[in-house]
Amino acid sequence: MAQSLAGPEIERLIQLLARLPGLGPRSARRAVLHLMRKREDLLAPLGEAMRVAAERIATCSTCGNLDTADPCMVCRDPKRDNSIIVVVENVGDLWALERAGALRAAYHVLGATLSPFDGVGPEDLALPKLVERVSTGQVREVILALNANVEGQTTAHYITDLLAPSGVKVTRLAHGVPVGGELDYLDEGTLSAAMLSRTTL
Ligand code: ZN
Repeated sequence: MAQSLAGPEIERLIQLLARLPGLGPRSARRAVLHLMRKREDLLAPLGEAMRVAAERIATCSTCGNLDTADPCMVCRDPKRDNSIIVVVENVGDLWALERAGALRAAYHVLGATLSPFDGVGPEDLALPKLVERVSTGQVREVILALNANVEGQTTAHYITDLLAPSGVKVTRLAHGVPVGGELDYLDEGTLSAAMLSRTTL
């Protein structure tokens, strides 16, 4: 075991930061050293920002997004087309789609995708709220923006069946050639999906 170079408070900070995705103990140590050097400019404001965030973070009771208010910023945005709901697995997917900025629609975070082998069933997903939102009659399309793996596609089929009685239009993201992708480098699954979901020019 390596000898500790700093007091327990600093060690605790390093250990906590090391638990962040993309950081290991080495990067965490480097980050903490940087924070200690920038105590006034960075460490103190970061500590305060984290304290405020920890106090106020709430799960939006409409869409499941994480924000400091309920309803969240997305649900409160008056410029959004609320007749389209984009269904995603998690908040990270919601943020990624928002960054892409292709569509200013409403969202619905499921929290998970169906995975019978891992014991994740329909009751573990935020489905009743989705059905409730669709049943208001103000939704004309539900876009299933789920991962292109077995769990994502199983979930897409389940939701399609679940929403069928409502008569709402259910669509899913296209599967195919990535932007900038070269055919020669794609796997067979991607190529065949791209061929099957071809579009008219
Ligand atoms: Zn929301």
